[in-house]
Amino acid sequence: MLETNVGKELMSKDEKYVWHSMKPYNPNATLVVEQSSGARITDVDGKEYIDAMAGLFCVNVGYGRQELAQAAYEQLLKNPYTPLSQGHVPAIELAEKLNEMLGGDYVVFFSNSGSEANEAAFKIARQYHQQRGEGSRYKIVSRYRAYHGSSMGSLAATGQAERKYKYEPLAPGFLHVTPPDSYRRNEDEYTEAQEIPSVKEVDNLMTWEFSETIAAMILEPIITGGGILIPPQNYLKGIEEVCKKHGALLIVDEVICGFGRTGKPFGFMNYDVKPDIITMAKGLTSAYLPLSATAVKREIYEEFTKSGNYDFFRHVNTFGGSPAACALALKNLEIMENEKLFKRSLEKGSELLEKLQNALGEHPYVGDVRGKGLLIGVELVKDKTTKEPLDVALVNQVVATCKENGVIIGKNGTTVAGYNNILQLSPPLSIPDEDLEIVLKTLVDAINKLN
Ligand code: PLP
Repeated sequence: MLETNVGKELMSKDEKYVWHSMKPYNPNATLVVEQSSGARITDVDGKEYIDAMAGLFCVNVGYGRQELAQAAYEQLLKNPYTPLSQGHVPAIELAEKLNEMLGGDYVVFFSNSGSEANEAAFKIARQYHQQRGEGSRYKIVSRYRAYHGSSMGSLAATGQAERKYKYEPLAPGFLHVTPPDSYRRNEDEYTEAQEIPSVKEVDNLMTWEFSETIAAMILEPIITGGGILIPPQNYLKGIEEVCKKHGALLIVDEVICGFGRTGKPFGFMNYDVKPDIITMAKGLTSAYLPLSATAVKREIYEEFTKSGNYDFFRHVNTFGGSPAACALALKNLEIMENEKLFKRSLEKGSELLEKLQNALGEHPYVGDVRGKGLLIGVELVKDKTTKEPLDVALVNQVVATCKENGVIIGKNGTTVAGYNNILQLSPPLSIPDEDLEIVLKTLVDAINKLN
């Protein structure tokens, strides 16, 4: 690749001063971006890439939206800051808008990141039970292979051992169960939700751990970073029923699945459930500014409005729900609505899925191609019969070949013990058709090169 002196100098400063996440394991690490537009990013040497990951599954409306910058700019001039111990207009409007999108009676607590939104959810769940005289309920159930964040509680909820290694002990009280994995254990044949083995496992765990100790279960509607694991259609319904049976709250992590990624406003809407708490971040602002939210059913919130000492939610963050981030989020949601991006995600996602399945279905290393909306996973295996995962080096080779050819794709890290073999696509929902065709061709060619 042609490198300019300016590019070289910036790269060497980057190497010297910036501590990148996941470096050196991330094969996309050596990329210094200078500008971006639509679904494309351009590095300091002028090389253009199609970003088929929308950053980290987050730039849902695409790059370079002037209206978003303008909304933040105008709000910064009007009023740059009010803490949410007081109130401000964009937070009110955004909470109302989210409530409308969720189709229910929710009260919204704002933070800055997905991890923080989940931390807030855990604290709310525990305090809620305490205030109803059920202080023995503190355990939070989550699933192996899922990622819920990097802070001590959200990492404890995470079911990826390699991410926790060397950081333990984390927050206590987190338990893990097996996620549904339709490729390796077909659970789709169960018509009764309660009969699905990965639902039964939750029921058993809550029984054996003693219902009276369980506060909540947290789950993504579809495990995303952990390998794009699409559950059986009635799995979430089964989990909802099990949570109700054991008196546990259902927390749905919509940090990635929210805001159209799976073709619906929120991922849980694919599965006919009504979560008690919903956490969201990333697509809320399309990542133009940091903002996250924890939406809580009103009846739960009301437990926090009693007049007893310490009954209120004693949780503050300085920057959460900043006026500019909320104003930008409102504009972001308006763009999604005006451009019908949820529908686009659904339609373009199923087209792309079908094309990938047709192009790769017979490939000896391609075990499974799956997805919902513009969230697609390609599981690479050594052998289609044994389903043994392909070596990480070869998986990385596909990511690197795509990058060389101008397309950024993802893979599920080096962090899911035994299963680092799943390629990921999660482009901006607004990605132009021509760019999507290039992504398809580049990925298929890169996998074919493995022969
Ligand atoms: N939950 C899920 C499902 C995520 O994918 C992530 C981040 O990738 C988080 C939570 C944590 O979000 P953040 O990185 O904003 O703290």
